[in-house]
Amino acid sequence: MEEPTNAIIQSSLDALMQDESFLPELNEGMREQAFTSLSSILSTPNKVHKSYLRVPLDNGKVVRIPSFRVQHNDALGPYKGGIRFHESVNEEEVMNLAFLMTLKNALHNVPFGGGKGGIVINPRNYSEKELNAISRKYVRYFADVIGPDKDIPAPDVGSGEREMDWMMAEYKKIHHGTPYLGSFTGKSVVNGGSKGRREATGKGVYFSFRYMIHDFLKEKEELLSSTDNVFAKTTLEMAHRPLKVAVQGFGNVGSVTAHEAYKCPLVDNTVVAVSDRNVTLYNEEGLNIPALIAFTAKNKGDLPTTEEQLAEAEAKAEIRGRDELLTLDVDVLFLAALENQLHEGNMENIKARIIVEGANAPTTEEADKYLSDKGVVIIPDILANAGGVIVSYFEWLQGRETRYDTEDEIYQKLVAQMKKTFDMILPQFYGDPFPLRQNCYIHSVSRLSEVLYRQGKLY
Ligand code: NAP
Repeated sequence: MEEPTNAIIQSSLDALMQDESFLPELNEGMREQAFTSLSSILSTPNKVHKSYLRVPLDNGKVVRIPSFRVQHNDALGPYKGGIRFHESVNEEEVMNLAFLMTLKNALHNVPFGGGKGGIVINPRNYSEKELNAISRKYVRYFADVIGPDKDIPAPDVGSGEREMDWMMAEYKKIHHGTPYLGSFTGKSVVNGGSKGRREATGKGVYFSFRYMIHDFLKEKEELLSSTDNVFAKTTLEMAHRPLKVAVQGFGNVGSVTAHEAYKCPLVDNTVVAVSDRNVTLYNEEGLNIPALIAFTAKNKGDLPTTEEQLAEAEAKAEIRGRDELLTLDVDVLFLAALENQLHEGNMENIKARIIVEGANAPTTEEADKYLSDKGVVIIPDILANAGGVIVSYFEWLQGRETRYDTEDEIYQKLVAQMKKTFDMILPQFYGDPFPLRQNCYIHSVSRLSEVLYRQGKLY
């Protein structure tokens, strides 16, 4: 596992060690021992499964595709996490992402553990028939370790409801006669998926920002004004004024986040830039997000990259280099692409004062520290992008009960659950010197520790 994760677990454990109200029944010696066990449990996954999927291609050749399923921890419930289809996904990355899922579920009180999967392909290079075969092979190779009460995969980068439908169908075939609706989440609605699941992560990401800058502030402005906390000052600086917003990544998470910002009546924000793998589009007056979403739907997910395509999309924008988005003069930066986007090489040029992590781990440890020391508020991945797993939990429950909620009911339940987490974390965050990520980690580790201790695993 990467160093940054270990460092942050360690400092969360240190903070808990100093808190005498935490597991007070442990005497000094037992306490040390419990924390040592905890540190090793959290910094290593329970299981790493690896296979080479043997898949015949349309041209008659047979390839072997590396694939993984990592099961990090199941103290809180069955393992849960997406399957990434990406050419550079690797075992270490999947391990780190599975660990984040353990923390995310603990933070938001979702009764799942942490897992993650990866298939090393660029899905754009394969036909639909080949992708179907790859998805089904993945399920066949990992059939014994996944299932509604064992490990429940979902979509991630490069996969979506189409792949989840194929995968659930294969699971159903293999485990004929057993419950199967809860084996995968993020399925299409006709195939037992939940209304609102596809949009859940992006809506949750925008809600996180809106809640901090508007809803929470409306109630607690006095609290923020009365403290010297540097992050409270940044929040107040950003409140009650027009904000320029940039969104990196225009896939499932980024496009929905941008659309939520575009239509939000509560915050005076303008989406001035969006980007994908190829390009940044910039318009100081604001981009026409619905027109860009309509264009990507017709063009394999790609944003316009030429003047002709912009005209076709009926969108006005300057075409800029892909990574220019990150260093634009904006107030808020939503990161919804991949990991390690803010790093030592660009951190000094970041101008945004609020950064919202829609993607998992988009900020390296160095950049995180540098920006936090400058008072930038970073709403971390495990707090901001949990909408997907929260609605996956609703989907899993609905599948068990074969009773389905409306889209509005799902959204209301999603924001109620996220609000609960924010209301627990924010007063503490504005009252102590730790950045928000550290606050969230301390809470997650504390919850996991209590559960692991009660389960007799901390010896
Ligand atoms: P996605 O649909 O595949 O979208 C990823 C987007 O990022 C695409 O627009 C892609 O462009 C773009 N991109 C890739 N490299 C980029 C770069 N260097 N600069 C700018 N844009 C770049 O994936 P997603 O589901 O939205 O996931 C995005 C992030 O959110 C991932 O970190 C994922 O783990 C996290 N997340 C997703 C969910 C979920 O429910 N989907 C839940 C929690 C967290 P192209 O299309 O041109 O390649």
